Amino acid sequence: MAGTSGEAAMPLSVAEIAARAQDFEYNPYIRLKVWLRTAELLLREAQIYEDEGNIQQAYMLLMRFVTLVADKLSAHPDSKEPANRRALKMMIKSIPDAVDRLEVLKPRIVARYNTWQTENAGREESAADVWDGQGPGSKRRLSKYAEADPAIAGRAKTLEASEHSGLAVKLAHKEIQRRDDVRRTTRQSNDRDQGGYEGDDSTDLQRRIEDTRRRMDSRERHTGGTPKKLTKPHPSASEPSLAAPRSSEYRYPSISKSRPFQYEDSIGKMERNFGRESAPPIPEKQVIRSTISYESPAPMRPAKLLKEEPPSSTPSPVDEPSAYTFKPSAYLENGSPLRTLFLPTLLRESFLSIARPNTQANLETCGILCGTLISNALFISRLVIPEQESTSDTCETTNEGALFDYCDKEDLMVLGWIHTHPSQTCFMSSRDLHTHCGYQVMMPESIAIVCAPSKSPSWGVFRMTDPPGMKSVLNCRQTGLFHPHPETDIYTDAMRPGHVFETPGLEFKVVDLRP
Ligand SMILES: [Zn+2]
Ligand SMILES: [Zn+2]
Repeated sequence: MAGTSGEAAMPLSVAEIAARAQDFEYNPYIRLKVWLRTAELLLREAQIYEDEGNIQQAYMLLMRFVTLVADKLSAHPDSKEPANRRALKMMIKSIPDAVDRLEVLKPRIVARYNTWQTENAGREESAADVWDGQGPGSKRRLSKYAEADPAIAGRAKTLEASEHSGLAVKLAHKEIQRRDDVRRTTRQSNDRDQGGYEGDDSTDLQRRIEDTRRRMDSRERHTGGTPKKLTKPHPSASEPSLAAPRSSEYRYPSISKSRPFQYEDSIGKMERNFGRESAPPIPEKQVIRSTISYESPAPMRPAKLLKEEPPSSTPSPVDEPSAYTFKPSAYLENGSPLRTLFLPTLLRESFLSIARPNTQANLETCGILCGTLISNALFISRLVIPEQESTSDTCETTNEGALFDYCDKEDLMVLGWIHTHPSQTCFMSSRDLHTHCGYQVMMPESIAIVCAPSKSPSWGVFRMTDPPGMKSVLNCRQTGLFHPHPETDIYTDAMRPGHVFETPGLEFKVVDLRP
């Protein structure tokens, strides 16, 4: 079996994608700073998907960002604290930009969906069979989940991670190098304060630099830094009406799924709430973006899906990330897809040698697993050893600000953590579970690697179950250092089987931030 689906399944409608965007658990017990990092991550992921031509997933993430920040975080209990109020206000200022991008993507999604409908009237079932190709049973159920996944529904050239890890490694090395080059060039360019946007005939590199600048500028506005000077004026975001938290109306919300959602109403509300009527017009560079197709080159896709796409001015070679989409390798217990996470095989060994002095002194050591998103898969490319304080049974990151600053500077996403149990067995302690919840809220694919070098098994890769693990631990109010949780299935192996693939040959760097 090839494991490659050349046939595209049915694309999703705007309403279906919007419904998916609303389908996330919001829990006000989780600290606002965690939610703000989550919101920031949604924007970064959306940018990558959009750059790779995966407009459905970009749309879903942008919509989720707007919902999270506008509907949820404005009423978060922590938003009353002055420091948080400022951070939240910065995040709210990104909403008009996100709404603009939604408006640019929407007609492309509608056109693609309508074309598919016209050409496949009455053939939905057979198309689903082509997508599945596995017959009845649990695979069929997973196929149904896949059909509702904006990241892969309607995409050509979807790949099974298990059968294409070699290609994944090649793609990752090339793309990570390319992004590093862009980032370096952007920094130099900013330092010299020259070069810039040239209009319609801008080169691909200039376009990417401009995108990177826009993202950096946007991020600096979130975090309160001084925006870098752009050669074209950046549109100033209109002052949103939700800048001040509505503390007088605030009632402690119960933990619940997002409420049912009416797409058109919601956009209308966003426009009312965030003054889109008076917002600046879509900047020129965004209009230009909308006319450039980053879709796969023609031979990779069925002709029917290409018809409504604008002509590609920069067709991507077959070894570029936009040419492929990795399928999710597993699903959460609630049916949400888990993207494949590629883990360098040698990383554990490297971490253990760094940890050895602590391990010999019966002290824990922890490291942060960082990486990026490429072609709907996650790649761990850097092991960061943060400043930390440890005992024989605990390890705590200190100076989190320095860690996040480093990740932002290097454009890294946090994908999980790794720590040692110098004398205990390989398991997730109650404290580990509480720690890991924060990671998994920000990124559902986040993993916890536990190394117990003196025991057998000597290591494991874990994630929380959802349900019941995430909700159980997030709702747990026990304060003891170690305390029992009633459920037995709070966490699970993420590798045998799961969404994590140990990948020989995947390069990574180690950075030690300890003084
Ligand atoms: Zn532990
Ligand atoms: Zn607990």
